[in-house]
Amino acid sequence: MTPSASSTTPPGTPRWADLHTHTLFSDGVDTPQRLVELAHAAGLSVLALTDHDETGGIAQVEAAAAPHGMTIIPGIEMSASTEDVEVHILGYYFDRNEPGLRRHLAEQKARRIERVKEIVRRLQRVGLAIEAEEVFAFAGKDGTVGRPHVAQALVQRGHVATRADAFDRYLGPDGPGFVPGSPLPPRRIIEVLRGAGGVPVLAHPVYLKRDDLIPKLVDDGMAGLEVYHPGHAPDLIAKYDRLADTLHVLKTGGSDYHGTAKEGAPLGAVRIPVALVETLQAWHRAHQPTRAS
Ligand code: AMP
Ligand code: ZN
Ligand code: FE
Ligand code: FE
Repeated sequence: MTPSASSTTPPGTPRWADLHTHTLFSDGVDTPQRLVELAHAAGLSVLALTDHDETGGIAQVEAAAAPHGMTIIPGIEMSASTEDVEVHILGYYFDRNEPGLRRHLAEQKARRIERVKEIVRRLQRVGLAIEAEEVFAFAGKDGTVGRPHVAQALVQRGHVATRADAFDRYLGPDGPGFVPGSPLPPRRIIEVLRGAGGVPVLAHPVYLKRDDLIPKLVDDGMAGLEVYHPGHAPDLIAKYDRLADTLHVLKTGGSDYHGTAKEGAPLGAVRIPVALVETLQAWHRAHQPTRAS
């Protein structure tokens, strides 16, 4: 019988964190409860839920994690864009009730709905039969809607064989249906996150494909780089590890898990030592926003 990690781990054994995960509150497939069960089974001690532009699943993850003694870090993955490229910004340790953040997320949720309508119009213009309602049917009723839900609708209609095909042919940066997730610049998203006491971290720089933008993002207040990600082969990990050192920013990592039924890595497939999380938390404690009283 395999002993469970939490009850038998001797002192001094490395403890692990996965700081990039999704549930059905955005484009993942798992409930928050299922995510926690999988994290526990994977031997993780620390977990951050980082749904796209959404914090609705965090309370349920916290409740499910409590009996396991697992630490939950409040997280989010926020969309921004600059120079027509999509920028994903992870945020950690923010106050999810902070009014500026709440206002932004309410606006962004509405923007994502309008974005799907625009994507659908563009797809119709290139001759595809598809309706926005079909896309919304794939999104959770409480969470945010995104391109993966459009991809599911395209598969259902038989326009493409797989969701990956939908991105390759229609929804990726060069596709006829591409609309960035948010028109707001990274500087604004960083400001919203830091205003809520959060730590902004540039997600998966490999997908940004614009290393030249990274020093500017750090000037704008980006506090860290996601060095460890399933999209980063060892050479890229080494490159972003060095870049984080050069720019004096934090290093984070995670699996970007979306569900076993989806493309991407299993939960905990990319994990980081808890020592890196402690550094992240120390940064958070040292950078509390000053609030007018
Ligand atoms: P959105 O936030 O609506 O722009 O959607 C971004 C999400 O789309 C990512 O988090 C992935 O889950 C998914 N995605 C992006 N590119 C691809 C791809 N080439 N194949 C499959 N899924 C993708
Ligand atoms: Zn996603
Ligand atoms: Fe992302
Ligand atoms: Fe993600």
